[in-house]
This record gives sequence, structure tokens and C-alpha cells, in this order.
Amino acid sequence: MGQLGHIDRKTMLYQTKVEYGDWAMNHVQGCSHGCNYPCYAFLMARRFGRVKTYDEWLRPSIVDNTLDLLRKELPKHKDEIERVQLCFTTDPFMVGYPEVGKMSINAIKLINEYGIPCVVLTKGILPIELAELSDINQYGITLVSLDEGFREEMEPGAASLADRLAALKTLSDTGCKTWVSMEPYPTPNVHEQELQPILEAVSFTNQIVFGRVHYDRRASAYEDLNAFYRGAAKQVRTFCEENGIDCHIKKGTAD
Ligand code: SF4
Repeated sequence: MGQLGHIDRKTMLYQTKVEYGDWAMNHVQGCSHGCNYPCYAFLMARRFGRVKTYDEWLRPSIVDNTLDLLRKELPKHKDEIERVQLCFTTDPFMVGYPEVGKMSINAIKLINEYGIPCVVLTKGILPIELAELSDINQYGITLVSLDEGFREEMEPGAASLADRLAALKTLSDTGCKTWVSMEPYPTPNVHEQELQPILEAVSFTNQIVFGRVHYDRRASAYEDLNAFYRGAAKQVRTFCEENGIDCHIKKGTAD
């Protein structure tokens, strides 16, 4: 179990500008998963002076006044909020930090009290307690490969792919809505793999979101970059159509 720092913040909920974002909350600063894609949240935190180094980013601090802030902000914004995303700049079920997961569950419960659904995304383990919460929520994992060696290289502090998938399947089996974020999907020069087995591994989910790699010079240098992503996006769309899965191809991936 990791040592968790503690901070307070002035605000919690905010409206995002990303294509499927709506509103979001980030109740932790930093993330021990330490992704090497690289992590956009880390790049932004460093740019705006919230952390100085990658090592500092790996030592997360929980926002202690999260629930107080939500109690203040939810009545104010409840009519504008369609859904809340946990999280954009950290992970709500960070491996080795049960306090983070506990706070996430309490935040989801509070948000649900206002009839607002939460969209959860993690590279950790989705706990079974989520099955007891409102069925308006949607629970997801990031999965860009089935190769555990590649996971260890790119997401060194995150949960193993098998454990991540098993937790998602368990929630799906209890009737929860589930989804998968296949982003940033690697180009063949970054990691050579077949897309079909990954799609088949998540065929039980309700939604697949597919997106390209960003901020990676190796991927950008890939000769057939656009053709590769167009082909992959087509394969994802076809798979979703055949399996009755909602499909979302991120902007700029296949166009
Ligand atoms: S899980 Fe997300 S927030 Fe955490 S290091 Fe990886 S990309 Fe960054």
C-alpha cells in the first residue's frame, strides 16, 4: 500500500472541453500508475506547476475536502450536468491506494443522489461494491493490448490486464453497464499486435471508445499512420455492429 498525501481544493466539479466529457472531477493529484504514453495529465500538471517531476507525480495526494465540495457544488450545478466523469487527470481506483477507491465510491453515491450518472474509467480494479450503486452509472477500463509485457512497459503501476478485465466482466455479469477505452491504441512500430483478439476480449461490454496515440514521436513517425488508424477504426466499427456494442471513434483518429 502506498503512502498517500493530503491536500484541500477550492473547487471539484468542472465542465470539460473534450468531445464526450461533459463534467468531470479529479479528487486526487498525481497518479501512481505512472503511464509512459506519456500521461497527458502529468504533462499538464508539470506545465502549470502543480508538480515538478515525474517522481512527484507518482506520489498521489487525495483531496480531503472532496465530499464537502460536492455537497456545495451539486445543488448549484445539478440542472446543467448530464453526467460526471471520474476521472480525467488521475485514476479513481488507483492500485495500492484503497482510500482513493473509497472516496470515489462515496463521491459516486453523492452524485447519484441528484439523479446524475457517473462514467468511471480506470487502469486499476473496479470493485464489486460498484454493483450495489445506481444502475445509471457506466464503469470502464482502459485496454489497449492483451500483452502483459507491453502493459508493464507502458502502465508500470497499473493493474494487470487479466485482473482489470476480470473485474469489468464481474460487474457486467451483475448487470452493470460497462465500457472500454482503447486509447491510446499503439501503432505497429510501437507495439505489433492483432486488434481482433482485444476486441473479442471485451465483446461483453456495452461501449467501445477507440482513439489514436498522441504525444508519442515514435507513433507520429509511423509511415502509414493515417491508413493504419482508418483500417483499425473500420475494424472496431464492424466488430461493434456485429456484436450490438455502442461504438465511438475519437475525433482525429480515422478522419
Ligand atoms: S492512469 Fe491515467 S492519470 Fe494515471 S498515470 Fe496513467 S494516464 Fe496518467
